[in-house]
Amino acid sequence: MELLDQAKSYACDYISTIQDRRIFPTESAIKNLDFFSENLPRQAADPAKILQDLHKFGSAATVAQTSGRYFGFVCGSIFPVSMAAKWLTDAWDQNPALYVMSPVFAKLEAVCETWLKDVFCLPEQTVCGLVGGTSIATMCGLAAGRNQLLKNHAWDIHENGLFNAPALKIVLGQQAHSSVFKALSLLGFGRSSMTVIPVDEQGRMQIEKLPELDDKTLLLLQAGNVNSGAFDPLDAICDLAQKAKSWVHVDGAFGLWAAGSKNKAHLVKGMDKADSWSVDAHKTLNAPYDCGIILCKHEKALVSAMQAVGSYIQYSEHRDSMLYTPDMSRRGRAVDLWSTMKSLGKNGIENLVDQLCEYARQFAECLKNEGFHIRNDVVFNQVLAACDTPEETQATLDFIQQSGECWCGGAEFHKEPVIRISVCSWETTKADIIRSVDCFVKSRSLARKQ
Ligand SMILES: *Cc1c(COP(=O)(O)O)cnc(C)c1O
Repeated sequence: MELLDQAKSYACDYISTIQDRRIFPTESAIKNLDFFSENLPRQAADPAKILQDLHKFGSAATVAQTSGRYFGFVCGSIFPVSMAAKWLTDAWDQNPALYVMSPVFAKLEAVCETWLKDVFCLPEQTVCGLVGGTSIATMCGLAAGRNQLLKNHAWDIHENGLFNAPALKIVLGQQAHSSVFKALSLLGFGRSSMTVIPVDEQGRMQIEKLPELDDKTLLLLQAGNVNSGAFDPLDAICDLAQKAKSWVHVDGAFGLWAAGSKNKAHLVKGMDKADSWSVDAHKTLNAPYDCGIILCKHEKALVSAMQAVGSYIQYSEHRDSMLYTPDMSRRGRAVDLWSTMKSLGKNGIENLVDQLCEYARQFAECLKNEGFHIRNDVVFNQVLAACDTPEETQATLDFIQQSGECWCGGAEFHKEPVIRISVCSWETTKADIIRSVDCFVKSRSLARKQ
């Protein structure tokens, strides 16, 4: 119990000072991580000292992703209630793989499944699995789709494997996320089986460039381009795919949550006509890591792709979570998701999505007023900013990253460097935006003086 009190006191210390901390740790804090470099000690260590050192050296070298001025990648923060609920379940330490291992996680996962269908307006028969992130979720959706398309052509992949199977055509946009290419490669699809569709200036798949779709096509669409935030024309493409009996998977890691807002739902219109979807709760929804979700309209296809058998595995009439995911043992992610959704409610989810998008819009507007160029249409929570020249953009980004005031990543957009801003923390306020814009301006001045 004393250890828990100690951990709680460090956590409270961390949380209460986060707003005054540098966003990226100092060089000396990073250097101090050398403290951890040692061979595995032969002797046991004192638990209280372990926590003490972890806080002293570890906390000091964290990137302050839970502050309101972290805009790197697409990360998301954590709600207090989600963190607290997670702590409680750490004490449970239940394995949610099977109902007989944890009735409570089975129940909460079933509840989350119903809630997710509600928020995303997905068909009643849709099922979900909770995985580490969208990378794995996408792999699950593609495995289900691959197996089902082959089954439709009388090819049982469990029996025959992939070698000599009827050839499937993979169709995806030029700016599909790198995790999609990774998932495809893990599933046995190389570049030679892919038809890569050119995209428009925002990164959206150009529908008129689509090849003939058929019942051997696995089509990947994107709801939320990782740089521009743009959405593929889901409605029109899903119509074509449905007619052709192709399998459509939507990568909506952060963008699928647009469905939760009346103002943004038009971006994902028609996505319910797809077959599977991947989305993260740890991004836009601000649930703790790791909480990825695979949603699939065809329960049998997903379960058949994921199911494991063994004489010791005891399936039940209730929800057995491992039927829907590649992993067996894992953390009880359902509580992270359930507590976050329960505390927000439908209105809260809508407000959160709207808030992130509104701050992104304001960020872009303030930057424009300061003479920065905004390279993308800010349709969601992503902003791509640039200075007058590529060199100035790169140097400005370097100064922003060194400043400790805020943190943004970089990317290439239309072959030119951009500063990439992702507003996805519930903690970001108007004051954070103003302070960050100020940091942009100061960093650009430093870049100009170089
Ligand atoms: C973040 C992201 C992924 C990968 O998700 P992880 O949870 O990091 O595995 C995939 N696609 C898009 C569009 C993303 O933004």
